[in-house]
Amino acid sequence: MTSIASVGASAAATAPIMSHWIDGRPVEVLREHTGPVHDPSTGAVIARVPRGGAAEVDAAVAAARRAFPAWRDTPLMARSQIFFAFRELVYRHREELAALITRDHGKTFPDALGEVMRGLETVEFACGLPVHLAGLNTPNVSTNVDAHTIRQPLGVAAGITPFNFPVMVPMWIYPIALACGNTFVWKPSSHTPGATQLQAELWKQAGLPDGVFNVVYGGREAVGAILEHPGIDAIQFVGSTPVGRYVYETGTKNGKRVGSYTGAKNAMVVLPDADMELAADAAVAAGFGSAGERCMAQTLVIAVGDAAHRLLPLVSDRIGRLKIGPGMEPNVDMGPIYSAEHRASIVDWIGKGVAEGADLVRDGRPFHLDDHPEGYFLGASLFDHVTPQMEIYREEIFGPVLGMVRATTYDEAMAMVNGHQYANGTAIFTTDGGAARRFELEADVPMIGINVPIPVPAGYLSFGGARGSAFGDLKLRGEDGIRFFTQQKMVTVRWPEPGGREALSLVFPGNR
Ligand code: NAD
Repeated sequence: MTSIASVGASAAATAPIMSHWIDGRPVEVLREHTGPVHDPSTGAVIARVPRGGAAEVDAAVAAARRAFPAWRDTPLMARSQIFFAFRELVYRHREELAALITRDHGKTFPDALGEVMRGLETVEFACGLPVHLAGLNTPNVSTNVDAHTIRQPLGVAAGITPFNFPVMVPMWIYPIALACGNTFVWKPSSHTPGATQLQAELWKQAGLPDGVFNVVYGGREAVGAILEHPGIDAIQFVGSTPVGRYVYETGTKNGKRVGSYTGAKNAMVVLPDADMELAADAAVAAGFGSAGERCMAQTLVIAVGDAAHRLLPLVSDRIGRLKIGPGMEPNVDMGPIYSAEHRASIVDWIGKGVAEGADLVRDGRPFHLDDHPEGYFLGASLFDHVTPQMEIYREEIFGPVLGMVRATTYDEAMAMVNGHQYANGTAIFTTDGGAARRFELEADVPMIGINVPIPVPAGYLSFGGARGSAFGDLKLRGEDGIRFFTQQKMVTVRWPEPGGREALSLVFPGNR
């Protein structure tokens, strides 16, 4: 069995070819049906990833369909024990997974390790599946009539995931889908596939039956096949807004349950009474961590009153001290951008911001590393005087570009937060409890931080945005995840008393 985990951090002369994972084993493909995977620190080709399509999706769905009845009927404790075993295996392999993330994505190794641990939280939540799947039981809803609810799996579920969290985001989806008794087809991003097969192998080692968890690599064609496939019942997608909207609209049109969790432009509001040192640390950590390639990155700072005047030099000073380099090197704060094309797009955005009239206080474009001339490195950029009329305010850049926006009052800042097309997360920095309370109640954004810059809820809670940041009614993971991946049935029960049959009546039955 070829394990992608064995692909070292150093670029191999002949890049290994990765395999789909179907029915509990790798499915090899010919080199001509693959595309390159690049190390963003060097630009070198380090692996080749299959370009799957309808045939591979079909094979994976067939395997998942075959495995479904037995998995659905596996006793809950037996299912749960597989989750405990998987949890232990992921924990044991956490550094290996993190190194593969860093290799493909470029984020620093400690950041990648943090990603694995935050993914693991949802696996840990799923270990408690016997409790999560419990229904309600209500005796005496009517005379001699009881009611109960049960949660049952939907069938075959699919997950389509983005490049930026190759372990955590899938771990926000597949543990819940599987815990609920569904079987699964995962379509990971082709940009960061390295940690994928190791996850599949760990499931097998944990004792998950073959066919319950399947992986198909690919792009548009594979996604199109998932959206059309009659054997897929539910899809969770995480990625950009245009693709997420298409996935939601096409999948629901084809009768599937779909949740799409998409792009973002998160703003942190800084009131004049905030601890400015804390706010500056937060803005730099949330704006430039993972090179700004996080859907919960805070890429706008809305400074109220004179806060901008005091905050700007603190933020600029911190940016000047950031160490940028390959993610596996010690003490690096920010790694490269994940792809050459995306780097070019961020550079374009910075030019656009200048053309729109924003004040470029720090320009990351000239940054380069002499010993990594082919790497996709970019420095951190800071704009001041960004306004809601600008495209760099409205659109997601998804890179190390932070924009300072100036608001006169709290109400003006709140109108900006609530008027934005995206609504994933937001935060307020203040020492005023009353203002923080107002913010929590008034912000029309589902995930809120109070003096917390990246308010990603704990792994046992739900995660998801609103407006242009999510399509569908339920959020990812947590209680919403259990609801998403189950059908709830409401059962009304009467056991007739001997000799107690009532006279025939066509009146609509009441509950009295
Ligand atoms: P993306 O939309 O390009 O890709 C996401 C998935 O869709 C990948 O598996 C990809 O192969 C597939 N895909 C890409 N283009 C497609 C097309 N035209 N047709 C069909 N499928 C296609 O997103 P990305 O660049 O990988 O990830 C970054 C985006 O994801 C950002 O917008 C970010 O905000 C968002 N994101 C959102 C969340 C969240 O929870 N809301 C979390 C992480 C990332």
